[in-house]
This record gives sequence, structure tokens and C-alpha cells, in this order.
Amino acid sequence: MFARVLESDASCNGRFFFGVTSTGIYCLPACRARKPRPENVRFFPTCEAARAAGLRACKKCHPDDFARGADPVLADIETLVAEVRAAPQNFAEARAIVRRSGFGATRLFELLRLHYHTTPADLLLRARLAAAKTRLLETRETLAATAAEVGFESLSVFHAQFRRLNGLTPAAYRELLGARTFAITLPEGYALGYLRRALSRDIHSMNERLDGDRYESAVRLSGGPTLLRLILSPTTITAEIPSGSAIEAHPLVVGLLGLDQDAAAFARLAKKLGLARLVAGRPELRITQTPSIYDGLLWAIIGQQINFPFACLLKRRIFERAGERLDGGLIAAPTPAAVAALDPADLLPLQFSRQKAGYVVATSRLITEGRLDLAALRELSATRAERTLLAIRGLGPWSVNYLMMRALGFADCVPLGDTGVTSGLLDLLKLEERPDVPATRRLMAMFSPYRSLATAHLWQFNQPIPT
Ligand SMILES: [Zn+2]
Repeated sequence: MFARVLESDASCNGRFFFGVTSTGIYCLPACRARKPRPENVRFFPTCEAARAAGLRACKKCHPDDFARGADPVLADIETLVAEVRAAPQNFAEARAIVRRSGFGATRLFELLRLHYHTTPADLLLRARLAAAKTRLLETRETLAATAAEVGFESLSVFHAQFRRLNGLTPAAYRELLGARTFAITLPEGYALGYLRRALSRDIHSMNERLDGDRYESAVRLSGGPTLLRLILSPTTITAEIPSGSAIEAHPLVVGLLGLDQDAAAFARLAKKLGLARLVAGRPELRITQTPSIYDGLLWAIIGQQINFPFACLLKRRIFERAGERLDGGLIAAPTPAAVAALDPADLLPLQFSRQKAGYVVATSRLITEGRLDLAALRELSATRAERTLLAIRGLGPWSVNYLMMRALGFADCVPLGDTGVTSGLLDLLKLEERPDVPATRRLMAMFSPYRSLATAHLWQFNQPIPT
């Protein structure tokens, strides 16, 4: 805990408080005030416990506000982001966001990086593209008009950025309405071998299969479970959705391919750090996103603390028990309602531990009872999403960060305690011994704000490069 205090680790806020006996003050782990000497520090689970020990709340980090759920700086940033997303055309450039925020540029960069894993420019770009997508589908205005309405300075910039993050042109996007098939153009150098590895790694899967260049998966769209077929090639992915709408399948395919991740920026950072070997042979590696947030959640609970093949087996069994089989044999993921209707005891014969069975069913019930809104998590700040998920019994820091990087698309997550990450660091940095959690946290800090991609590269670091 003291190591986290020295790092001003905001992810520990609320998990404990620390008091300084020499000053009589208690603080949040993230407090930026001068660091205390270790012999003067005491730790407390709550503010009440710190006050009972005769300490007063710090006036810099306001631990009582935080404990009450009030976090005024975070709330300011969330309001600002909501404004940008609601009306990106009101911000001519990233500097306009800085001016609107009331923070200095350096401070705003730090806060957006911490709470949203992004920069003002990237926030603005994504807000403009999201607004453009809505206009493309809901209006018949020209592309030039759409570009101008959402704040792009030129049609060519709009076109290039839209294509980079969505894999198709704005005009092609508009045509997805009512279509059954569409083509995604891959970025140059796309790591197709790694995509194949990701799409075929679940050896027991009844949900997806990769056969040559043909990938099929049973996905859920608003109309129910349906088949998604992808034909893979080095330059283009052709998607077919025999029933259901291409407009709904498109974000799912973008997620599978990881198209909206900034692989190039991470590769540049790795080189700048003198760690080009981390990205060698795969500068374009992406994180394959799970087909839905609930899929990711199931996988994060099932996969914790057991080996990978056994996790795949448990996943297959719960899909067989509660999922929906399509013609052709693939099984779509169970819905939260289907799992919520199970008794945890139903999962014991499938070799779920009593605890894991309890967590899977209880979390699904939180969703069906309206106490956990999965779709809303994507819109939240990373900080708020992390707090929401950590409050759920059965989700620890590993599962939460895994879910945030694999299902919610957050860019700066580390699943602490992950053996793939520690093995990768051990070899990459030629360490004497496997890093423990504080050491992992310290070492991974250099990869911020791209720690999710760093994690993906570390997972592959000791693996042979696919052909
Ligand atoms: Zn403080």
C-alpha cells in the first residue's frame, strides 16, 4: 500500500486511506501532497477509522468527498466529456476543449489520460466520428455537409479518419442500412496471423470456428442470435450476415479486428523506449474485442485463477447449458437472463467451483435486475467503469482490467497479477525474477496511455510469430 501511495495511484482510491501521524492528516492514495516518511504512515479501511484514530481530512485530496461518492474533479471531467460528445461541432480544435475545461493544458491532458485513457484531440476526433455516423444514417445530406456539421475542417480529413477507424468510407457506411454483406479494408501491415490466432485460440469453442480463410461465429444482434461469417484476406475482410442487419454487425467486426485502436502510436512509443523488440514482427497487433460486453464478463469470471484450456472447457459447457444453438451447430452466448435463471448448483456438474458458479449467476442477476447496466459502461469514464466493476463481488482487479481492455475498449489497462504479463516483462527486460504486483505496476507505467496494447504484446512476446 505504501508503494501505491508513493506512486499516487488513483486506482487505489477508496480501497484504503492513509494517515500521517506527524501531520495528523489522512489522505487518498492518489494525494499529490508531499510524500510522508514510511515510519509515520498508518493505513485505514475507511475515513471513519482514520478519524477515530484522531486524524483530520486532507484539504488537498478531500478523502471524505471521495468516500461519499463525490469526486468533484472527476465530475468536472465527465461533464466536459459529455459536452464534447453531445456537440463536437462546438469545439473547433483540441485547444477549445482545454479552454472550456478551466484546467491548464498539462493538467487536462493528465486528467483525460487518467480518467478516459485518451487525449483532447482523440476525444474530439471520436466524438466527431460518432456524431457523423448518426447523421449519415438519419439524414440524406451530402458527405461534405456531414463533415462540416460535426466540425471537420475538410472532407478529405473526415474521409481519411472515418476510414482509418471504421474500415470503410462514409458512403459505404451509409449503405450498410439494409445490407447483408460489407467489406472492411485493413490498415497496411495488419497482423492477420495474430487475428487468426485470436480467432482460433479457444480450442473448445462451440461459438466460433476458423476454417482456412473462413471464420464463423454465432453472435447476438437485436433480432436474436445469428451467424456472422468473415472471409479473411491480407487486405480486406468480407463480412456476411445472413439474417440481421449489417449496420449492427459493423461495430462488432470493427471490435473483432481492433480497428479503432492506435497500434501505430504504441509501436512508436515502444521504439522510443528502446523496446522495439516488443513489437518486432507485429507492429500492427490489435486486441480482439469480445463480441459483447456480457461475453467478456462471463469470460473474465470463468477465466480467473484457472488455466486457459480448462477455462475454454467451462465456457463451452455453460454455452451448451444456457446458450442458443443455430442451424449448423454453432452456439450463441447465453443471455444474462438465461444464466440468471440457473441455480448455481446447476453449474457444479459442469465442473464450475461453487464460488465461480455463484459469481456467474449472481452477476447475471445484477444485470437482469437492472443493477448493472453493461451498455452504459462504455460511455463512462474508465475510472467510473473500474469502480463500478470492482464493487461487484467476484470481480477483482485482474478480471476488471481484463474486461475493460477486451470488452470495453479502454486503452490503458493492466490486468495485474496476469502471468502472461509478468512472463513477458521477465523476458523483455531480462529481469532476475518474476515481478510482483507493485513491480508490474511500476514497470508498466512507461507504456501509458497504451498499456492495454502493451499487455497484448507481452502476451505474444514469448510466442512464435505466426505465419
Ligand atoms: Zn491528501
